[in-house]
Amino acid sequence: MDQGVKVDSHQNQMGDRRPTVPNKRNVAGFEVKLATPLGPIRGRVTIDTGPMRLAHLVSTAYELTNILVERAAKREEKAGRRISCGPKCGVCCCQMIPLSPPEAFYLVDLLDSLDTSHRQVLLERFEAVVNKLKKGNMVEELLAPDCSDDLGLAIAKEYFRMQMPCPFLEEESCSIHPNRPVACREYNVTSPPELCADAGMYSSGIAKVPMPLPLSAPLARLTAHLTGTKARLIPLTLVPVWVAEHDDWRRMEWPGVTLFQRLMEEIGRRSGAETR
Ligand code: SF4
Repeated sequence: MDQGVKVDSHQNQMGDRRPTVPNKRNVAGFEVKLATPLGPIRGRVTIDTGPMRLAHLVSTAYELTNILVERAAKREEKAGRRISCGPKCGVCCCQMIPLSPPEAFYLVDLLDSLDTSHRQVLLERFEAVVNKLKKGNMVEELLAPDCSDDLGLAIAKEYFRMQMPCPFLEEESCSIHPNRPVACREYNVTSPPELCADAGMYSSGIAKVPMPLPLSAPLARLTAHLTGTKARLIPLTLVPVWVAEHDDWRRMEWPGVTLFQRLMEEIGRRSGAETR
């Protein structure tokens, strides 16, 4: 998958190392300062100055999310609480996972990059979930741009009750772990795992690690602004259906620097982000 935004590995203070952008490409470097309730994040981001799609912003959002999740986990540890999520526990992967439109486009790019047989297997899993949701008359409501929070919550509870694993869950592990959405990265609990199995995130005893700056929100607001629509999130299992209806948005391009700066502005509305 091509990536439009990369963190410079030599100056990166944002977590995982990533490859540097080859010199021959037209790139611009930005110092990013992000004031968050979990402390400041500083780093250097290198951006293609050429045309960029919304999906190209996603790797940066994931990288920032990783840093915030790590800090939130440390804060919990300091308070004497340990994250109880562990390997081979895929209980939360039966929940309805909300994605911002750029993440949805990124996920479809990922599916498109797979070999045909692997992609086919995954698309069949998506289709099986969609068919079950159709039987419950839930698809139209979930895809409606004005689905209310109350209705969304009621559907999300029913969705969990139906126990439909995420198409990417294999042997109780995430098969796209490095590319998993913001919501999956942010979902960590300090309560006993058995509580999740009972009622998912809707159980009253669940102690979810609070995340002060969910980055799917600015990605959704940016898309809304650029497309003249209302900010929205899309359930992961409906992503292929939704993206097929919005393929023009997926393919739209903007100058990379403009797109990145707009994202930082959207993040800054909550956090005080700065770029220069
Ligand atoms: S993307 Fe991965 S972590 Fe997220 S719900 Fe699917 S299997 Fe679970």
